[in-house]
Amino acid sequence: MDKIVITCAVTGAETTRQHNPNLPVTPEQIADAACDARRAGAAVVHLHVRDENEKPTQDLKVFRKAMELIRKKSDIVIEVTTGGAVGMTPEERLQPVKLEPEMASLDCGTVNFGDEYIVNTLPIMREFASQMKRHGVRPTLECFDLSHVYASHVLIKEGLVEPPFHYGLVMNVPGGVRYEPDVLELFVRKLPAGAFWTVMGIGGRASVLAHYGAVALGGFIRVGFEDNVYYSKGVLAQSNTQLVERAVRVAREAGLEPAQPGDVRKLLKLRGA
Ligand code: ZN
Repeated sequence: MDKIVITCAVTGAETTRQHNPNLPVTPEQIADAACDARRAGAAVVHLHVRDENEKPTQDLKVFRKAMELIRKKSDIVIEVTTGGAVGMTPEERLQPVKLEPEMASLDCGTVNFGDEYIVNTLPIMREFASQMKRHGVRPTLECFDLSHVYASHVLIKEGLVEPPFHYGLVMNVPGGVRYEPDVLELFVRKLPAGAFWTVMGIGGRASVLAHYGAVALGGFIRVGFEDNVYYSKGVLAQSNTQLVERAVRVAREAGLEPAQPGDVRKLLKLRGA
């Protein structure tokens, strides 16, 4: 394919306005950021929402509002988080799948997260996968470690996740694998045949290096304030859009055009295709 899918994770759970004052936090701001990212070349928005105190929430009302605002103004594909935030219960995290978004993230294992941790046992993952299957939601199988890739094979073998497969390779979370080209290559070699994958390098330098890793190895790119609030060392990004624009430039230098939402719907056989 001579196109590359760019996902923009506009808000995330752990980033605050103290990290970057331009972080979108209200449903209106998040929807505007998603629409701007789409105009800049992103085809997918990875969606987290915040409550009135700017704290991460999996509340259905807030998700519904953000999704409605986005859909009113844009054809961008919506991928909701089920990773949620540190400290949330699995039941809480799974809620937005009920809104039947086209895509949702599905964490494929337990991971340390700085001094904290996020628990994903196999029974939790099975429940998430079967709920997504029931609601016709395409999972993005998020792997923070090589063992998570193997855990995804279990879900596939049990028929809980069906092709086409889409992976999210999360690199440089403090506690997960580092972004290193040979590690990315190993990750990719262990994915099922024909799987699509998006790499996310967490933190400024890893984020940009991961763009090149994705281009070199035939994957997709994720950018956005969830992963990185800087444009360059010590310089805060002005907006999510600015980060999407750079990903588009990197892709175009390699002869790749940003995929449109319609391309993603066809490629990943999403409900809206
Ligand atoms: Zn997320």
